[in-house]
Amino acid sequence: MDPTMLALWRDTLTQAPVLLYGGTLALGLIIGSFLNVVVLRLPVMMEREWRRDCAELAAGDDAAAAAEERFDLIQPPSICLHCGQRIAPWDNIPLLSWLLLRGHCRACGGTIALRYPLIEAGTALLSLLVVWRFGVSVQAVAALVLTWGLIALALIDLDTQLLPDSITQPLLWLGLLLSLAGVFSNSTDAILGALFGFLSLWLVFHGFRLLTGKEGMGRGDFKLLALLGAWLGWQAVPQIILFSAVPGAVVGVALIASGRQQVEQPMPYGPFLAIAGWISLLWGEAITTAYLRFSGLVG
Ligand SMILES: [Zn+2]
Repeated sequence: MDPTMLALWRDTLTQAPVLLYGGTLALGLIIGSFLNVVVLRLPVMMEREWRRDCAELAAGDDAAAAAEERFDLIQPPSICLHCGQRIAPWDNIPLLSWLLLRGHCRACGGTIALRYPLIEAGTALLSLLVVWRFGVSVQAVAALVLTWGLIALALIDLDTQLLPDSITQPLLWLGLLLSLAGVFSNSTDAILGALFGFLSLWLVFHGFRLLTGKEGMGRGDFKLLALLGAWLGWQAVPQIILFSAVPGAVVGVALIASGRQQVEQPMPYGPFLAIAGWISLLWGEAITTAYLRFSGLVG
């Protein structure tokens, strides 16, 4: 698109909030629906790949892999988990279909989990907040991509205790790339942020393992904090650690006290990092400024 077209779009959207927020709402719902698929299928795809790799290594041939049916984000089409009936496109409209069907399959009446419309509505809500915060800008577009990635990562970690490289790595590179244009941070701060983010948790991980002989977090957590550092610069890293570790510890203690979590059992840290990172993305600078003013470091 040429610059005048872009400027025209920007002016139109800025002057028509209904169009801007309506469009964001619709886009957020559609992306939320796609994230449902990603969260459900990506871990299965990863597991299949590991199995394939192991089989190849063991047998030295890939005949077993070739026989397997295609399973990715596109194929097979969505089906009802109760009756196996394929879900028609008109029953697959984000949020609306669930509301119209009152959370039941059209074919068998089985319940469709509340989680799906909640993720769609949640994605739309967070997308609206991003656009409200950044307006019509490159920052808003970039922040939307990061927001959607963080939603997927947080949910996959909650479900499976995995943080897929196929999401963390592209986001890390994108953060570094955006720093070249100074979208959220300059390149020096971004590179140091990635390094600082990775190393800080790496040190905690290995320190904890030396002291206790246990692994307190997953290695994916290092990569998640590295990517947040790449997007927001090294200055954001201490804040993200603080905003994730404190709530993480509180929730962990509460879960153990209520008997819903064993002390030995690791708790996913990714969702806390993702939430802290997202807060830092939207309000990090405001929080730092307020803190400095409060502590009397800046007048
Ligand atoms: Zn059904």
